[in-house]
Amino acid sequence: MNYNSFAYRHIGIRKDDEAEMLREIGVSSLDELILKTVPENIRIKPLEGLDAPKTERTFLTHLKKIAAKNKLFRNYIGMGYYGTVLPGVIQRNIFENPGWYTAYTPYQAEIAQGRMEMLLNYQTMVCDLTGMEIANASLLDEATAAAEAMTMLHSARTKEKQNSHKLFVSDSVFPQTKALLKTRAIPLGIELEFGDFRTFKPRDEYYAVLVQYPDANGEIQDYRTFVNECKAHGIHVIVAADILSLALLTPPGEWGADVVVGTTQRFGIPLGFGGPHAAYFATKDEYKRFIPGRIIGRTIDKDGKPALRMALQTREQHIKREKATSNICTAQVLLAVMAAAYAIYHGPDGLRHIARRIHHNAIRLASSIDALGYKQLNKSYFDTIRIDLGEVEISKLRQIAERNMMNFNYIDSKTLSISLGEATYDESLEDIVRVFAEAKGVSPVSLPGEVETTMPEDLLRTSPFLTHPVFNSYHSETEMMRYLKKLERKDLALNQSMIALGSCTMKLNAATEMIPLSWPEFSDIHPFAPADQVEGYMHIIRELERDLAIITGFDSVSLQPNSGAQGEYAGLMVIRAYHQHRGQGHRNVVLIPSSAHGTNPASAVMAGMKVVVVKCDENGNIDVNDLRSLAEKHSNELAGLMITYPSTHGVFESAVKEITDIIHTHGGQVYMDGANMNAQVGLTNPAAIGADVCHLNLHKTFAIPHGGGGPGMGPICVAKHLAPFLPGHPIVKTGGEHAITPISAAPYGSGLILIISYAYIKMLGAEGLTNATKYAILNANYIKARLEKHYPILYTGENGTVAHELILDCRAFKRDASIEVVDIAKRLMDYGFHAPTVSFPVAGTLMIEPTESESKAEIDRFCDAMISIRKEIEEIALGNADKINNVLKNAPHTLEMLTAEEWSLPYTRKKAAYPLDYVAENKFWPSVRRVDDAYGDRNLVCTCEPTSSYAE
Ligand SMILES: *Cc1c(COP(=O)(O)O)cnc(C)c1O
Repeated sequence: MNYNSFAYRHIGIRKDDEAEMLREIGVSSLDELILKTVPENIRIKPLEGLDAPKTERTFLTHLKKIAAKNKLFRNYIGMGYYGTVLPGVIQRNIFENPGWYTAYTPYQAEIAQGRMEMLLNYQTMVCDLTGMEIANASLLDEATAAAEAMTMLHSARTKEKQNSHKLFVSDSVFPQTKALLKTRAIPLGIELEFGDFRTFKPRDEYYAVLVQYPDANGEIQDYRTFVNECKAHGIHVIVAADILSLALLTPPGEWGADVVVGTTQRFGIPLGFGGPHAAYFATKDEYKRFIPGRIIGRTIDKDGKPALRMALQTREQHIKREKATSNICTAQVLLAVMAAAYAIYHGPDGLRHIARRIHHNAIRLASSIDALGYKQLNKSYFDTIRIDLGEVEISKLRQIAERNMMNFNYIDSKTLSISLGEATYDESLEDIVRVFAEAKGVSPVSLPGEVETTMPEDLLRTSPFLTHPVFNSYHSETEMMRYLKKLERKDLALNQSMIALGSCTMKLNAATEMIPLSWPEFSDIHPFAPADQVEGYMHIIRELERDLAIITGFDSVSLQPNSGAQGEYAGLMVIRAYHQHRGQGHRNVVLIPSSAHGTNPASAVMAGMKVVVVKCDENGNIDVNDLRSLAEKHSNELAGLMITYPSTHGVFESAVKEITDIIHTHGGQVYMDGANMNAQVGLTNPAAIGADVCHLNLHKTFAIPHGGGGPGMGPICVAKHLAPFLPGHPIVKTGGEHAITPISAAPYGSGLILIISYAYIKMLGAEGLTNATKYAILNANYIKARLEKHYPILYTGENGTVAHELILDCRAFKRDASIEVVDIAKRLMDYGFHAPTVSFPVAGTLMIEPTESESKAEIDRFCDAMISIRKEIEEIALGNADKINNVLKNAPHTLEMLTAEEWSLPYTRKKAAYPLDYVAENKFWPSVRRVDDAYGDRNLVCTCEPTSSYAE
């Protein structure tokens, strides 16, 4: 590896380390290890067709040129995406700070209190602004949030409504939402009816309705009579609402909404060509056990002190599998954190001020445009005005606008709309007026000063919001910076230590990959901007699609899905469309191994398929005989197989080709879950194992940071015969000739973060990518070699090696020492480490995945910690330590415990907090003791306490 190359920085192992590690494993070379690990019949030739690797420096220079092809127009397109101002303090301290963006999903609550406090703030903010009782910690985008509301209310129907399957959707809902609802409704047997809410006749066949507030045209409709009529017929009401407008308008919760959804993008989050942004979902308390996604709730720790953790986890797809009512694995935590920070920084007065300024600007603009002789059509509006151009040709006006670098929303041959945002100041308003004046050939008029609101008196908000101290304390930058630091310090992220989460691939998220995300040429682009303004983005997208196709061995790619779970769903919908297209629409059975991730069966059910579980043998491999007999049994209805490769057991199953052949023989398609792609890149690929389609978790294998639980991207890659069915989009053409309806609100999902994976591939090149895989496998096998003397390794491949991860079997400790796998997870915190994956895919085990980015020194510290913990378990087993009162059961230990006047535990403080020498160098203190999950679930509270200790 060249000292100058990015690979040298991305891969943590140095030459001398490598020799030592190989010796420990007992092989003579890295290539020998790879040959022993990856079955011969699926190995591929070296990757061809990728660009030569760039250095970090040359990459950024190159990317600047591509960025320059994006044109920075002022955007007044609206449609769910608005100009906003990201406060510098949030940009620098959260968005560009690995302390926030490299954290994992907060499953280990004691070392994730900081981001959970911010998510609790987020939930409080959403509840306050919408007037609802409970909110989750974000969803993927507004359109999927609306779809989740549709399915939640469908599954929560009362007895009387059991036969009602119709959802009425107002015509004036954003087009991308309408299109996505179609995708989600059809497989579940939900019928959609689109129409004018004013002529809607409530009948028993409807279970719910969906309206937009203010509507897609910008008009503020008064839905109160409509809602009352719906209620009288037991029909539930979903409202997609602009959260900023709710600072001024009566919130839907006050006029009877059952669910309120929307995006928090305009709370300081860059447009980013469509995302990532956090969608919100708020509802009534009575639906708390049906709510999709994650909820942060309050609870207590072992000392009875307040603590936070993810609530009601048993609703998640990981546990409920095919019975899950939704499938949100990756949320948008980082973006929810930023939106909450925006609300905290501005406070209720600041938000009101921002909303009022936007609103007044819209009125001033409307009045000036009216004065020029045009007709503004909206009666009552927040930020969007709609203009009838009269005799002025729309093409002429558009030409003038584009010459002045402005985008409007062109609705039809006579009408356009203009949506204003926080980033629009008087100068821009004057520029807009000049465009309209020029189109008419008249002189511009000046903007009025003060104006009266156009909002109906009785829809003005009177209720207070964001009254909690947290929203009223940090309005100076110094105070805000310190509040953010205070939260950041409570969380363990990759800038502290290795996070060896099996299946989650917590690798380096390199700074050079992240830097371009702050460039306005990428962050300020609207997802529906005209094609000739986004050539930079399209260049990146086309090349990324091509490179991912090369890496997977497939033909075509859709970058639309916003998470791995969405990718699974997209892939299955493509398979479904393929079968239907061939007149085989009855094929609806999908085989899924028992070891699969919970999202697999959940996605299959959402795609309208029937799940049949395939057994695994005692070595953890798919039971080929069981698979064969199930494929035969369901031959006529077989839609396909979902398989994870290498398996979730961390093994390259050598029978994989035989398995995929069996499925094809019976007319099925093979879906490969790409979560473990980090063990494949450059050595094998999904096409080589016989798959037809796969998703890739760009936030695992391709270096997008996890953001503390999102964002993510889950593009799908398909063989040629499936390419025509890749997802389309109602506004920007994507997908194939028989495109399925969209999976995400934006045409290319979260466009902004695609740049990270693009950078990763371009800087590593074919050899670097392949080396990343080899070193990931080396590191896992090195850990195996060090730990197998202390812990049983659950599964290995035919030659005794593991792939890129390994499973430690901890089940015997329960019998011998009353120690459970969570005790080990919590004890690791005292050693400064985040736990590996707990109890997946096998209960009572730990799954370790070091990735290629870690150094031998860090891996050794981790192994030392695991070995030391093993000795602590042994002390209990031998009766030298108490079965209940011991270092593991009491873990994690806080600084407060250690420095208390009293110390009554039967071991020393040093043993509690500094069990190995290296710990003292870089001690990480969990901010709470072990949290009590059951208490929090029994006493569910998901917003800030009125005078809570979280506030200071
Ligand atoms: C992470 C993971 C998923 C889900 O991906 P998300 O992006 O979190 O939705 C699915 N399958 C496996 C095996 C995974 O590890």
